[in-house]
Amino acid sequence: MRTLITNGLVVTADGSSPADVLVEGETIALVGTGLAAAGVTADATIDATGKYVVPGGIDVHTHFELPFGGTFAKDTFETGTKAAAHGGTTTIVDFAVQPKGKALREGLDVWMAKAEGNAVLDYGFHMIMSDVNDASLAEMDRLVAEGVTDFKLFTAYPGVFLSPDDHIFRALQQTRKNGGLIMIHAENGPVIDVIAADLVAAGTTDPIGHGLARYPILEGEATNRAIRLAEAAGVPVYFVHLSSRDAMEVVTAARGRGARAFAETCPQYLFLSLDDLGNGFEGAKYVCSPPLRPKDHQEDLWRGLRTDTLQLVATDHCPFDFHGQKELGRGDFRKIPNGLPAVEDRVDLLHDGGVVKGRISRERWVEIMSTAPAKMFGMYPKKGAIAAGSDADILVFDPHRKRTISAATHHMAVDYSIFEGFEVQGTSDLVMSRGTVLVRDGAWVGPAGHGKFIRRGLADHARLA
Ligand SMILES: [Zn+2]
Repeated sequence: MRTLITNGLVVTADGSSPADVLVEGETIALVGTGLAAAGVTADATIDATGKYVVPGGIDVHTHFELPFGGTFAKDTFETGTKAAAHGGTTTIVDFAVQPKGKALREGLDVWMAKAEGNAVLDYGFHMIMSDVNDASLAEMDRLVAEGVTDFKLFTAYPGVFLSPDDHIFRALQQTRKNGGLIMIHAENGPVIDVIAADLVAAGTTDPIGHGLARYPILEGEATNRAIRLAEAAGVPVYFVHLSSRDAMEVVTAARGRGARAFAETCPQYLFLSLDDLGNGFEGAKYVCSPPLRPKDHQEDLWRGLRTDTLQLVATDHCPFDFHGQKELGRGDFRKIPNGLPAVEDRVDLLHDGGVVKGRISRERWVEIMSTAPAKMFGMYPKKGAIAAGSDADILVFDPHRKRTISAATHHMAVDYSIFEGFEVQGTSDLVMSRGTVLVRDGAWVGPAGHGKFIRRGLADHARLA
């Protein structure tokens, strides 16, 4: 099967130029001007006049079917990847969880089984380490060799995921040997628990308490601590869902002295704020960790994206229904399942808030939503590029078409939208994964179970730094 995408503007992280793209089977065979005129033929032609032709979005932070607080994140690998595809994402990396006291492998096998045959998009896995010990450290090397090349540790959630400093340090040391990357959820969990208990004791039980308890300074503190530990171990470190000015200042300073500190932020921190946690129990819809921050943090995060202090945007997609799930926390905000639905809206939101609003260039938009994630997580240039030899993961993106985000029309398996009523300019007309069209004009046209596991390589830190 040969498909020719003609007359579009090919936009990559490096630049934009009018070009045709020839797809042969699952990969891009040729990128050049006037291919059709030069006699290149194909089985199907897609006219992209007036549209961008860009690499498919890569969301490196999703939690499909994650067990949390006695319930499960609603989206399965099938519904979640389908929703992601509708929003212009063609690759996801999810988090497998090591069961406490068990092997990493045991957790990975469970997540592999959930995804296989169900995911419609190509998928990789990061590994959440619940226990750092001699056995799990040795296992890290084997996982890296199998394409699961990074490991997430937490300074938050005492008694569940929290790793003490010596455990984090040992994991960092191990990546010096195996080339993997440590990802950190940086918030000072034990101190937050003290403040949260004080708030509840003083009568603040509504969702706003969640935002008030988790001070930005406690994200800054944990971020700084993890960077210093990584510098001591002589390895890079990556921060998931960086949310605050406090954490960004620490990363900026670290990069200034040459430390290899990298970070993602998420759409919710760029577009929503602490105010959304107010409004009584309705605020439960916006409970995630780190929490939404005061509005004035938003422009600092956009500046971080502009200056490459922040390398990319991922969603931390982890949806719970308002009815029946978020409601578990009525009367005590500490019992509200943490997480938000966002996997479907990232690409369009970043185009609207970033490119249309004049905060970043369209090339930087492609970089933060596709190319940088591919480089950071060992998938480039197979993913994240419009180039001969790359997987044909392609969006034909209309930069002018407008749509309104709503739970009534979204494809995520969750009963509300955190971006309800947002009007965005720019959305995908066509979404292609490895040469197969999955979504056309908003309608699903792809096969079931199309996704394949991606054996990822090591991050190219030299290129990223
Ligand atoms: Zn997460």
